[in-house]
Amino acid sequence: MYDLIIVGGGVAAFTSALFAARRGLKILVIGKDIGGQANYTDLIENFPGIEATGGYELVSSIKSQAEYWGIEVLQAEVSRIKQASDSFVVQAYQKQYKASAIILAFGKTPRDLGVTGEEELKGKGISYCASCDMPLYKKKIVTVAGVGDINLDAIILASKFAKKAYALSKTDKLSGHPALIKAVSKKKNVEMVPFVQILSIKGKDHVEELRLKNIKTDQQWTLKTDGLFVELGYIVHSGFVRDLVATDEQGQIMVNDDQSTSVPGIFAAGDVTNGPYKQAVISAGEAANAALAAYDWLQQKHGARGLTSDWTQIKKVNKS
Ligand SMILES: Cc1cc2nc3c(=O)[nH]c(=O)nc-3n(C[C@H](O)[C@H](O)[C@H](O)COP(=O)(O)OP(=O)(O)OC[C@H]3O[C@@H](n4cnc5c(N)ncnc54)[C@H](O)[C@@H]3O)c2cc1C
Repeated sequence: MYDLIIVGGGVAAFTSALFAARRGLKILVIGKDIGGQANYTDLIENFPGIEATGGYELVSSIKSQAEYWGIEVLQAEVSRIKQASDSFVVQAYQKQYKASAIILAFGKTPRDLGVTGEEELKGKGISYCASCDMPLYKKKIVTVAGVGDINLDAIILASKFAKKAYALSKTDKLSGHPALIKAVSKKKNVEMVPFVQILSIKGKDHVEELRLKNIKTDQQWTLKTDGLFVELGYIVHSGFVRDLVATDEQGQIMVNDDQSTSVPGIFAAGDVTNGPYKQAVISAGEAANAALAAYDWLQQKHGARGLTSDWTQIKKVNKS
């Protein structure tokens, strides 16, 4: 029996483990992998306090920091969470684990193109996060493939950093908000490539070229590029908790200000929640909040006073 089970293996999972462990809780983290989406990037330059680090290195160091406080980690996929009379039962493979409270931090997965070469070159010139990685392509040639406003945002960002940006579209126009389409049309270094499908991505250690096909004429050709940005949206694999906690139309877990969900005792943090922005530091912030809220909830459940917000402990500064 654990005080808290955390589902996930990324920034959010290990940050909430760190904060909850420092409150003395008995914690089990169950994650399918260690790192989560951070594993897709070799360079994170916007995590406060760290000038530059690899994604895996960032999560590993948060994990070590949490392990110092005695957390347990199990690499496994959670397939079910059930509410019992006074606890939650978490199923991972054939085993069941019990806890008084749960933090869901199982993130999301970028939607793939599903073409040859994509798996091998992920994080080596293929990015699924323009706001994260576009600054790495200063004065380079980039290609953006996607749909909707996130795709248009990525193209606009590409126009600011890259020497040249190709915007691929399966039709003769780009989809999304008219104001964004107008903004894209004004960018001199953006070339739209209509009626196009990516057949494969090639490169030795890094993306070098794309094999393309015109879907109207079947004509094939090769496009040289330094990077490919895929903006097809994300999938939240929350099916296994959808009959337990409230989710939005995208399957993201709905949270309150303190990261609590529709079920008392279950909290959620990071990219899996319905928060609008998805970045490592935001996942970490939500995770710290979730951990403290879970601790507070456990304290109150066991009849204790509950956690006092840190700032209420600060003595008033005498200004005179
Ligand atoms: C290419 C790319 C580059 C990026 N670059 C940056 C950047 O430069 N700066 C920045 O701030 N952010 C960046 N991001 C975003 C950042 O990586 C994410 O916001 C952050 O990693 C989200 O962390 P998370 O823990 O909330 O979720 P995730 O990282 O998605 O982690 C979820 C974890 O849960 C596990 N999991 C899923 N389902 C289950 C299950 N059923 N059972 C058990 N475990 C499960 C997964 O395996 C994973 O370990 C980038 C993202 C991508 C894709």
